Amino acid sequence: MAIFTCPECGKIDKITIPDKSCLAFYKCKGCKKLISSKHGCILCEYTNVHCPLKCDTK
Ligand SMILES: [Zn+2]
Repeated sequence: MAIFTCPECGKIDKITIPDKSCLAFYKCKGCKKLISSKHGCILCEYTNVHCPLKCDTK
């Protein structure tokens, strides 16, 4: 599980980490906004973990 923190409303949510991919978008359950990452991966940008591809550009 990855702990997602919404950049719009600050809601914390748990995301199941995909096996072999980045997550480009995530719909926040708090504000219902579709969150996208300018780096291409919301796992690396907005959660406490890196995606399986380690595409981190922080
Ligand atoms: Zn939100």
